[in-house]
Amino acid sequence: MQRSTYLKALEIHEWQQQNAATSTAISTNSSTLDWESLRQTVSQCTACDLHKTRTQTVFGVGNPQADLMIIGEAPGFYEDQQGEPFVGRAGQLLTAMLKSIGLSREQVYIANILKCRPPNNRDPAPEEVNCCTPFLQQQIALLNPKLILAVGRIAAHYLLQKKTSLESLRNKIYAYGEMQTPLIITYHPAYLLRNPRDKKKAFLDLQLTFRTLYKAT
Ligand code: SF4
Repeated sequence: MQRSTYLKALEIHEWQQQNAATSTAISTNSSTLDWESLRQTVSQCTACDLHKTRTQTVFGVGNPQADLMIIGEAPGFYEDQQGEPFVGRAGQLLTAMLKSIGLSREQVYIANILKCRPPNNRDPAPEEVNCCTPFLQQQIALLNPKLILAVGRIAAHYLLQKKTSLESLRNKIYAYGEMQTPLIITYHPAYLLRNPRDKKKAFLDLQLTFRTLYKAT
């Protein structure tokens, strides 16, 4: 199917083409690595100061052939301890959110913008994002997902290069990068734990994700 026909079939009415090479990271030589080599490279990375305070890197988890890629912000306390993204209460909520549209964690791929935990779970600094996102870009390229679901403000702002409120960014389908991958924005599960009234909107975003994903297959 032609890309334009594909986008039309998905009823993508708004999108923003992103340059996958927006990061100005120091050299990671990650652009030609396979999954295992990339994982090894990340595990040894000392490109930014976060390596000094991490317990371990948090690479990503899930099906390397998944249709759906979920991108969050950065590891928190439990993720840093366990080496896996989205564990703890926020992770349990993400698992429940996926289940609401009939998907398991094992069927999707989950990664973060940063692979190391920022101290006290502070927002990632711009230089940390610049250093780390070539790894995420390589993960996106290796996975080539049919749809990306960005959870939370930090991931949405990075992927869209647009710093408006999450509320104004959700409920739309964008197209990301050279592959024009459909991209949907929703709330971060940790935010939803603090603001349960927005769970209904997140569920609508997940339904949009499901419809978009399976209309395309
Ligand atoms: S956050 Fe990313 S760039 Fe910084 S040390 Fe960890 S893996 Fe390397």
